[in-house]
Order: sequence, then structure tokens, then C-alpha cells
Amino acid sequence: MGAPCTIVLYAADEAAADAAARAAFARLAQIEEALSDWMPASEVRRLPTRSGVRTELGADLAAALGESLAYARESGGAFDPTLGALTKLWRAARSGGSPPDTAAVQAARARTGWELLVLDAAARTLSLRRDGVELDFGGIGQGFGADAALQALEGAGVASALVDLSGDIAVSAAPPGRSAWRVEVDDGGTALALELANAAVTTSGDRFQHLDAEAAGATVRYSHILDPRTGMPLTTRTSVTVIARRAVDADALATALCVLGPRAGEALLAAHPDAAARWVTELPGAPRSQEQSARWDAVARISRAPAAQAPADQAP
Ligand code: AMP
Ligand code: MG
Repeated sequence: MGAPCTIVLYAADEAAADAAARAAFARLAQIEEALSDWMPASEVRRLPTRSGVRTELGADLAAALGESLAYARESGGAFDPTLGALTKLWRAARSGGSPPDTAAVQAARARTGWELLVLDAAARTLSLRRDGVELDFGGIGQGFGADAALQALEGAGVASALVDLSGDIAVSAAPPGRSAWRVEVDDGGTALALELANAAVTTSGDRFQHLDAEAAGATVRYSHILDPRTGMPLTTRTSVTVIARRAVDADALATALCVLGPRAGEALLAAHPDAAARWVTELPGAPRSQEQSARWDAVARISRAPAAQAPADQAP
């Protein structure tokens, strides 16, 4: 999936640890072959883009698409797994250093829309209602993979493990003799320390993947997260951290909540009592602002990062 993965685990001995880690990485390789946008031979890259063709899906792709479509529906389309044409256009723009023209954005946007998919979950088939629709699991694939890797570890007899798929983090039971895993996430430039067990956390935003471009005399930062309603990247300079039971939920929610913002986001979270979110916005020249969902404190057992890493206004 174009991202490194780290696994930390506790096992009885080195041989058991090796076997479990191998099982988890093998499971991730399977998921990568299904969902990765970075492998030309992945199942998602080989899907037909002509409408009306019923294609049989592998179990992982069907499951990831089912989760994605549930989030698309629930989020009113803020999360959309059909943005492939647009994400390719904007990825090329990030490499090239300048935004695409409006006509190219509109042409790509016409090939997006989750309602253009017909998924038969029982038969595991997909067909498109319009030519040229391309799936992109960038907003959910790593979370899906982190959960699956954790399951593979459990299957190999490991009860206490952490899977970090480049920021999509899933943990099982706490390390022996401890009450939780201590995980630090990037909270808009400062470290936020969380204590987690049987939970997942992820952060979405424009920190690492963006395009800075001049527009009307000002610099605009285009995120790699797109607003499906316009086909344009977010420019809100917001990052969102989500804690949830499953990494697939944390991942999909974080992407959706970047698009929705705190107010509409709270409505989406109402259907997910085990999940909570923090939004941090850092516009140049303005004080950093942060908001968290109503249940953040209940869902997270938060402890602040060491004072040395936090700015003065973040001290406990
Ligand atoms: P994440 O880092 O999980 O927020 O995922 C960002 C990636 O998801 C992008 O690089 C795109 O591949 C894809 N993406 C961008 N915008 C959306 C969106 N609104 N809904 C779903 N996936 C998106
Ligand atoms: Mg995501």
C-alpha cells in the first residue's frame, strides 16, 4: 500500500514471535494484492471500468468495499471509495507542482460517485452504472489491513500486539504487566500520548501529503483528501485523530471527518458510540484551534505528551 508497517508483539519465545509476525505480514500481502493502488497487478487496479459488467470480487475486496459503502452512505458521500479518477489527477498534480485545470477536475469528477456502484455482497459481485469509475481504497485500506494483521496475530496465538501501518495503528490486549499500550500520535504538530488496549487510532490530514499553490495572491495548501462534492482537495488545514475499536472504522472516520468538520462530524459519530475524534486546525498566521467530539474523554484515556514536546499553551 506504499507504506511501511511495524509490528510489535509479545510471544512466549522467538520462534513463536517469528511465526506470528510472518503470518501477519503474509495476511497484509494478501490485502495489498487486493486493494493496493500502488501495485499494477492488484485486484483493484485490474477491475473493469466499463459499465454493466458484473465482476466477481475476492473476499477482501468485497469486504473493504462493503465497509466503504456503509461509510459513504452514512457520511452523505463525504467518504467515497470511487474517487480513483480524481485522486490520480491530484496525485499527478502534487508530483508536478501545480493544480490541474477546472475542465480536467470536472471530467474526472464525472467518473466518481459511490451511487454508481452496484455491490451484491452475498454474490460478491460488482458492476458500475457508468463507464470509467475507478475505486480508491486510500482512505480505508490501511485500517482494514491493520485489523486483519491483528487478527492473523491472534490466530497465531499472540494476544498482545501493536500493528502500525504508517499511522493506522491497531492494538490488542495490553503488554504483559501493563494496563495499556502507550501510543503517541501527531496532533497537529505536537505529540498526543494515548493509552490504548483493544483499540485503534489514526490521524488524517494534509501534514505529509499536500500541494502548496498560489491562488489569488495567497498560498493555498491542497490536501490529499478531496471533497467528493466538488472534486477539489480540502484547504482547511485540519487534521483529525480518531480512536475506535477497529482500525477500519478509525481510518474511514478520520477521512470522512476531515471533510465534514466538527459539527456535521458529531452527527456521524453519534452512530459510532465506541469512536471519538479530535480536530486540530493550523492556518498560517492564526492561533492553532482544536475541537473534540463529545465522547473523546470517555473513549480515550488521554495523557499529555512530555512538556518538552508540547508548546506552552498545551501544558497540562
Ligand atoms: P487517509 O490518509 O486515510 O485520510 O486517506 C487519504 C487517501 O484516501 C487519499 O490519498 C485518497 O487516496 C483517498 N481519499 C481522498 N479523499 C477521500 C474521500 N473524501 N473519501 C475517501 N477516500 C478519499
Ligand atoms: Mg482514512
